[in-house]
Amino acid sequence: MDADLTQFRDSIEDAGRIVFFTGAGISTESGIPDFRSPGGIWTRFRPIDFAEFMASREARREAWRRKFETDKTLSIAKPNDGHAAIARLVRQSKASCVITQNIDGLHQASGVPDEQVIELHGNTTYAHCLGCRQRYELEPIREQFERDGEPPDCHCGGYVKTATISFGQAMPEAEMARAEAETNACDLFVAVGSSLVVYPAAGFPALAKRRGARLVILNREPTDLDPIADLVLHREIGPTLASVTGT
Ligand code: NAD
Repeated sequence: MDADLTQFRDSIEDAGRIVFFTGAGISTESGIPDFRSPGGIWTRFRPIDFAEFMASREARREAWRRKFETDKTLSIAKPNDGHAAIARLVRQSKASCVITQNIDGLHQASGVPDEQVIELHGNTTYAHCLGCRQRYELEPIREQFERDGEPPDCHCGGYVKTATISFGQAMPEAEMARAEAETNACDLFVAVGSSLVVYPAAGFPALAKRRGARLVILNREPTDLDPIADLVLHREIGPTLASVTGT
């Protein structure tokens, strides 16, 4: 085994409490494109930020059009070896939780209990009214959208949006507080498949390091936080996690 893999495996074995922090990169091997890699979503669509969503019916229409287009990929995506290796470490109580920026639900699908997945950017499997907070299921919205191509409005007059956090939208307070507590309590923090440029989420690896945890970054490309990490692996996620966890 290469030296960096051995070091990673030993870090996992020696750790008392691991936190995994994941980004879009962990789901590319499941067929879901990430944001910033060549060919990723970022290079095809400029994201619709929260202010635009609120200001323009055209932006809301486009947001829902993209949502239903990407759902075709999401609905067939299955967890991959990377998700499975993390789920195994959670089941073994080596890892206390997964803090994820992803909205695809694949950590839960791989067997991590719901209460041990902290979704910083929400999830895309339902919608809610931004005014009265009423929850809406997606299927009736999809049927309506296919009929009239119009974005859904709530009976209270508020706008209905997927339960995800857009750029410029407030972060979910409870999830941020839990993520901070978990980060403070771990002795090994592993950032996987994130370019680590989306803040405040990307603040957690540096927080872990400041609080004395060992920081490992596993990502195909360099990140700005590589210089502060104890170990950096520029490798593919699935095969790497499978090999260091013996799965
Ligand atoms: P990002 O796209 O900015 O970064 C992903 C990183 O993963 C890249 O640096 C890339 O080099 C690396 N990567 C991709 N596939 C890899 C592989 N197989 N092995 C190793 N490295 C790999 O993603 P981000 O940092 O999570 O930020 C994007 C934002 O977009 C997030 O906030 C997230 O909410 C959202 N998003 C989510 C999904 C999802 O739910 N699956 C998909 C796209 C975007």
